[in-house]
Amino acid sequence: MTIAVYPGTFDPVHYGHVDIAQRAAALFDQLVVAVYDRPSKQILFPTAERVVMCREAFAKLPNVRVSAYRGLTVDFAREVGAQVIVRGLRALSDFEFEFHMALMNKKLAPDIEFVCLMTNLEYAYLSATTLKEVAFLGGDICSLSPPHVQDALRHRVEAAGDTGEAPVPLSSLRD
Ligand code: ADP
Repeated sequence: MTIAVYPGTFDPVHYGHVDIAQRAAALFDQLVVAVYDRPSKQILFPTAERVVMCREAFAKLPNVRVSAYRGLTVDFAREVGAQVIVRGLRALSDFEFEFHMALMNKKLAPDIEFVCLMTNLEYAYLSATTLKEVAFLGGDICSLSPPHVQDALRHRVEAAGDTGEAPVPLSSLRD
């Protein structure tokens, strides 16, 4: 049985992530979506909320489960018995980052393979940062994220009040 881990920040989960998870779930027997607990970048949603939103987003995929993790991704992959780590690739800028990450992870865990799935063209422009920016600027996010994520973002926008200001500076939310 091949188990794959799909790690990320998922702050919050969007249709680009869902697309990668659907395709990975078709390739591997089990997919563990791993929500990183302590990203170096500033996040909008706490880990528990990101996990709940991911669970709902991936609920229709029977061989997908969602778990939070901290520490090295390769250690988490070993913990769950995964042989593969899956990442999504949007643009050349993603490639350089993913390439370095993959080489470092390979050094740390030669037994684990890294598989990058190319983005679906439809979502090539979509990132969690763009999604948050569009939401806070009052744009339509219906085609970008599942309805429950749209609701969560709307609550955040409302909580930010009339200023339209994000609770943390959007420039610090880059992904
Ligand atoms: P990170 O893990 O770098 O913080 P995210 O949590 O936003 O990034 O994304 C997790 C994974 O999903 C990464 O491999 C990222 O490249 C991929 N991903 C994000 N958005 C898309 C998209 N629109 N299409 C394909 N893959 C994506």
